[in-house]
Amino acid sequence: YGEKPDIIREKSAALYEKAKSYFPGGVNSPVRAFKSVYGTPLFIEKGDGCYLWDADGNKFVDFCASWGPLILGHNHPKVREKVVEVMQNGMSFGAPTALENELAELIISNNQYIQKIRFTSSGTEAVMSALRLARGVTGRDKIIKFEGCYHGHSDSLLVKAGSGLVTFGETSSAGIPKSFAAETIVVPLNDRDAVTKAFEQFKNEIAAVIIEPIPANNGLLLQDKEYLEFLREITRSNSALLIFDEVISGFRVGFEGASGYYGIQPDIITYGKIIGGGLPVGAYASSGEIMSHISPEGGVYQAGTLSGNPVAMAAGIAQLTELLKSGFYKELNAKTAEFAESIQRYASAKNYKLKVFQIGSIFWISFTDKDKIQSADDVDAAGMEKFKVLHRELLNRGIYFGPSGYEVGFISSEHNKTELEKVKRSIFEALDIVFKK
Ligand code: PMP
Repeated sequence: YGEKPDIIREKSAALYEKAKSYFPGGVNSPVRAFKSVYGTPLFIEKGDGCYLWDADGNKFVDFCASWGPLILGHNHPKVREKVVEVMQNGMSFGAPTALENELAELIISNNQYIQKIRFTSSGTEAVMSALRLARGVTGRDKIIKFEGCYHGHSDSLLVKAGSGLVTFGETSSAGIPKSFAAETIVVPLNDRDAVTKAFEQFKNEIAAVIIEPIPANNGLLLQDKEYLEFLREITRSNSALLIFDEVISGFRVGFEGASGYYGIQPDIITYGKIIGGGLPVGAYASSGEIMSHISPEGGVYQAGTLSGNPVAMAAGIAQLTELLKSGFYKELNAKTAEFAESIQRYASAKNYKLKVFQIGSIFWISFTDKDKIQSADDVDAAGMEKFKVLHRELLNRGIYFGPSGYEVGFISSEHNKTELEKVKRSIFEALDIVFKK
């Protein structure tokens, strides 16, 4: 099989065996278990710049970036130094610190779409709280979400489409009361009728529509700007709120995220990943008026022992400061576009059934011949077998992609052009093997 020998995973395999005795499935978050690709998970020992090293000493160019936060690569000196500096003074107080003000100011003064923010410790928490806020503000219970968007694992959001066009959701996890799922209406992406019908059917019951404006959890399902504008209008005319879940897109496609990219003002925006520089942070943000509903100012309760944690704030401050430097996004996005285009050119020249989708520094390699993939149903599930082969061939060539064909790849400022050239050649080789089979 293949033309390169499989990498040695002895130490990772031994660690995984041990981990299985401690953690369900041997992991603390399911996708890490490598269930959709070949082999056992790699246990990571360190990261630096665009590289990762596993427990067996294998070195990889990393395109997973801890699932998105590491836009400056691993162990960026500016982030590390700030974290170390702040840690000298202790690690948590459960009391306000100036660091929270500093990060909030960096975010708000450079983002015209928000006026006030609340920090949480994860994206899940941020989104869960944003929904509670939307329900608190509108006095309504139902929400509309889209099939193929992931918003973390809170009860209202682990819901998939039931049968039929406009459906109440079905839970996508055991342990969620059916009554919770009944408050979530799931519709396909890129479908105006479904949303319109939902608003007709549940008139004055819908608190919010939540969407990843750049859906990046089921492949990269780029929506048309007009569709997002349609969601803006229909929510406004029905007095419902529009929530942009920018846990991935926030500070990734530009400092103002997808809101800035498309020029659309949502009512609430959720963030995570990049704002924490690799430490656990999430946030939700909105206008001063809407945020005034949050406790202790208003009646919507939300709290966190480690919220606004100084060490996490420090990492966020250092990382965002770098992102604000002139030309940062322009260079990063151009580098990613060039990378995606070269892979596309190679595949097209060889008539391989493959499309590379890209926006900002996010890309997705999809085994399809469709020019656009805008809803979960459009994703070619059969292509996932090809991804499995690609993933193995890439690991064997020192390239680390997220372990599922539904995951997007991320490029950081540390992926230099020389390294990307080498990676491209390895990807071409790997594709030749994928399509030979
Ligand atoms: N929303 C989106 C769009 C996400 O991609 C994720 C995580 N990948 C979440 C929410 C949940 O964030 P977390 O894993 O930090 O809880």
